[in-house]
Order: sequence, then C-alpha cells, then structure tokens
Amino acid sequence: MKKITSKYELKGLTSDDLSEYLESIGEPKFRGQQIYNWVYDQLIFDFNKMKNLPLSLREKLEKTSTLNSLNFTTYVKSKNSGTAKFLFSTQDEKKIETVLIPEKGRNTLCISTQVGCPLDCKFCATGLMGYKRNLTAGEIVDQYLLAAKEYGLENITNIVFMGMGEPLLNFTNTINSLKIFTDETNAGLGRNRITISTAGIAPKIIELADSGFRVKLALSLHSCFEDIRSKIMPINEKYSLESVIEALKYYAKKTKTKITFEYTMLKGINDRKEDIAALVKLSKKIPSKINIIPFNSIKHMDPGGISAELEPTSYDKIVAFAEELKSYGLTVMLRDTQGDDIAAACGQLAVKHM
Ligand code: SF4
Repeated sequence: MKKITSKYELKGLTSDDLSEYLESIGEPKFRGQQIYNWVYDQLIFDFNKMKNLPLSLREKLEKTSTLNSLNFTTYVKSKNSGTAKFLFSTQDEKKIETVLIPEKGRNTLCISTQVGCPLDCKFCATGLMGYKRNLTAGEIVDQYLLAAKEYGLENITNIVFMGMGEPLLNFTNTINSLKIFTDETNAGLGRNRITISTAGIAPKIIELADSGFRVKLALSLHSCFEDIRSKIMPINEKYSLESVIEALKYYAKKTKTKITFEYTMLKGINDRKEDIAALVKLSKKIPSKINIIPFNSIKHMDPGGISAELEPTSYDKIVAFAEELKSYGLTVMLRDTQGDDIAAACGQLAVKHM
C-alpha cells in the first residue's frame, strides 16, 4: 500500500486489498467492499458521504487515509474535435495530463503512468520534459475516476495507456491499475477495451504476456530500421527492434491478440519507399495492424537537437503511404490529429511549466 503525504492512499487498491486494510485497522472486512462500491459504482470519494459506514469509522478513515490521489486542476476542450484535456495535480504537487478522445461510438481515455518520461523519444513533448517519478496505482486509476465524474462512467468506453510515460517501466503500478480496470464487479471495462502502448521494453512485454491480463498491446514503432529507430527513440539502443519483435511474437501468441504498430510520419525519415517495404516485411512476421499518425508539432516545447529538425510528412503523402500499405493486404488505420489545438494530440502531452 502506498502512503502519500501522511495518509494511506486507498484508490488503486482492489476490493480484497481494501478489505485486508480495513481488517488491519481493526474493522470488519466487509467494510472494504462497501468503500470499494462507493468509489467505483457511485464515484463517491468523501468518507463522510458513505452513509452505510459508522461515524466512528468515517472519522478514523478521514484521519488515516485518503481517496484523493489526484486533484482536478483544469480542463480544456478542443473546439475542433471535442477532445478534452484534463490537468491533474498529485499530492506532492506534480502535474499530469489525461485526454478524453470522442470517436464514433466510443470515448477513449488516454491516461498517464509517469510524471514526464525517461525515454526521450525525439518526436514527443513528454520526452522533452524529462522524468520526475512513477505514478502510483491510485494516481493511474484516479485519472479514470475523475474523468468519469465529469463525463459519466458509462461514457468512458476505452482506456489507452498512451499518455505521459512508459507504462512498462512502471510495471507493478500498471498491473495493479489493470486489476481495477478489468474488475467485472465494478464498472470494469474488460480487457478488449484496454490498450497498453510501449516504446519497446522487451522483457516487460514477456512479463505482461505471462501476467494473464491479455489486454491489447501497441508498439511505438516509428521505423523498421534499427539505426533510424535508435536516432529517434534512444531506448532502441537498449532493446533492439529485433528483440522487441521477438517479445511481441510471444505476446501475440500467448494472448491471441493482434499487435498495433504506432507509426508517426516524419518527413524524409520514415516515409520512404524502403519504409513501405520494411513495414510489409515486418507485418508478415506477426499478427498486426498499423496505426499511421500524422506528426503533431511539439514547437510549444521549444525543442532543440534532432527534435527541432523533425517535420511532418504532408497529408497527401501520408494518405498515399497508407494506401500503398493497404495494397499489400495490411490492415492500416489513419489517425486524425484530434485535439492539436489544445496540445492534446498524440506525442504532445507535456506540462510546460514543469
Ligand atoms: S513517446 Fe512515450 S515512451 Fe517515448 S518519450 Fe514520449 S511518453 Fe515516453
């Protein structure tokens, strides 16, 4: 159990863990399930409103524990697409961002797992902010709960671990949050509605496959060539694409899911003829689909080095690139640049003043 400031953080605990906690403070176990129901069914985060708890317990919990992992700071909605960006602050006054993306027939919440990110991908605003710390399971789960409070539980249909940070470098807390998100006894979303996106932490991909959660997995691919990928994603020096692909094959086989390859289009870097040939070859090795993403400007971060030189592929060229991939029988999706007017599009999340 995580302690933030001087109180125990109760969000992010499973109903069993919550029951054990209640027992450890001298209370009947079933009180844990009652609290869990208030939080996950009713979105009540104030002990004093949990009317089936005795006053003495409410007072005790108020002194020792908290249901406020995050505080809601601001909320901004895109005029173009309806995409909404939430800014939350943690108890130690770090800022994180979460994005809600409305799409046809579903609303996807893009959540963060770290404050900043240590991986320094050159096209990513979060990478440019550096790394502060891992989020706790409670802080990961609370992004969902606070967004649900704003939009309604039933209106958040999908979760992607694709906001700030690398989820597989915060493995334990990511897994603990999955226990809550997939819990069918609360408004759990089910594994088919959850996607984890990784920059390619090969050993953790294997561990995730063996964890039994069977959620969908996306790889931030962005180039099929080791040397180019290393330039734009330094983590490739540690875990080569070859080793990551081996891990993904294991994941796909073990979980019987398709892998999504995320591919941000960078002019002159990964939008060439040889990139199409390499993508076709890669896609034949592994059950997969390709998500083509237009590069969103990160100029709001005043980048230097390679990041400052990156330019987007033109939209016409992106469409032609996608069409040619499709002509080889590949499943290809072309993602809109939703929310770019509020810096909430893919790769743009960063709390600038940090
Ligand atoms: S793309 Fe993902 S892994 Fe890479 S720096 Fe950004 S947040 Fe981190």
